[in-house]
Amino acid sequence: MTAAPAEQLPSPWDLNRDQLAELLDGQPNYRVDQVWKGLNEQGTHPADLTVLPKALREELDTKLARSLELATEQRSNDGATVKQLWNLSGGASVETVLMHYPKRSTVCVSSQAGCAMGCGFCATGQAGYERHLTVGEILEQVVHARAAAAPRRLSNVVFMGMGEPFANYDRVVTAVKRLMTDFEIGARKITVSTVGLVPQMLRFAEEGMQVGLAVSLHAANDELRTELVPINERHPIDDVVAAAQLFRDRTGRRVSYEWAMIDGVNDRPRDAAELADVAYRSFAHVNLIPLNPTPGWPTTGSPRGRIREFASILEDRGVNVTVRANRGTDIDAACGQLRSSHAGSETASGSVPVELGRSS
Ligand code: SAH
Ligand code: SF4
Repeated sequence: MTAAPAEQLPSPWDLNRDQLAELLDGQPNYRVDQVWKGLNEQGTHPADLTVLPKALREELDTKLARSLELATEQRSNDGATVKQLWNLSGGASVETVLMHYPKRSTVCVSSQAGCAMGCGFCATGQAGYERHLTVGEILEQVVHARAAAAPRRLSNVVFMGMGEPFANYDRVVTAVKRLMTDFEIGARKITVSTVGLVPQMLRFAEEGMQVGLAVSLHAANDELRTELVPINERHPIDDVVAAAQLFRDRTGRRVSYEWAMIDGVNDRPRDAAELADVAYRSFAHVNLIPLNPTPGWPTTGSPRGRIREFASILEDRGVNVTVRANRGTDIDAACGQLRSSHAGSETASGSVPVELGRSS
């Protein structure tokens, strides 16, 4: 396990405006504005901010950590997907993926280095847990994505990169709140994806936010789900469904269920029928994504025709469904993939869900 830098110096993006003002106590007020703009508009570390006097920059360099260092960046041939691999202090690394669509630009951020949930089909799960990201490390991914997106405006943030956001609940919720206040990204443009940590889903429902919640279901009976998503043993499907219902009651927003289509495993008509029942009970939307193959897992994604058939069964039963594809396969754009190929392993995966269009 890699040491978390939290006990060390804070990242400048860990600080809210009041904390920054405190750090700059004794400096004229306009300095706070300069540093705040530098951080959040230009994505510049205060020690590199040339409008500041040299002595102040040197002082800030001793008080604030250098957080994300770019290890590698890849762009898809069409330029619509940009993937960045960041080295963190302490030796861990995480990925961020920026995706451009006709009407929006979305960044997929990581919330942990690695993940302890152990879903066998996921490259991040296969690699194991390293550490939680700090608030600053989460926000800094967004800052850099915003710079990479320019002149387009970064409109959406999804917590679907490496890690289980609800295992790092407090920091993720603080980051979400600061995205809304400091980055002016609307709650409805932010989505947190969870493997189904029920206590945190219930807490999240009570936060009073209109943020989207995606739940990675992948199977709608406990036996199969426990095989695919081991945490299901602790938080079985009925509890997840009850939490999804509560989330909808409290926020007025329905959850979406993520379903990686795995050839011959969870893509049969009876899986669709089971899912339809669960989705109907939860008033949930369903997103179908073909599984990305990973070196540590023997199965592959379902063929496109089967995904269509599966979607039709759901629709016939009154469930809203979207079929997605993995984007940026020419640049290892699936979460977990760039990191493993950078580390020299064969191929890997994760998923960057991309909307193909409604199946109806
Ligand atoms: N830990 C959270 C968020 C990160 S994973 C979660 O599990 O929801 C983001 C999404 O990618 C999840 O829906 C996850 O199930 C999916 N995923 C992981 N590995 C995948 C793979 N090999 N192919 C397709 N989707 C995958
Ligand atoms: Fe963790 Fe999500 Fe991967 Fe499962 S799918 S191992 S919860 S990152």
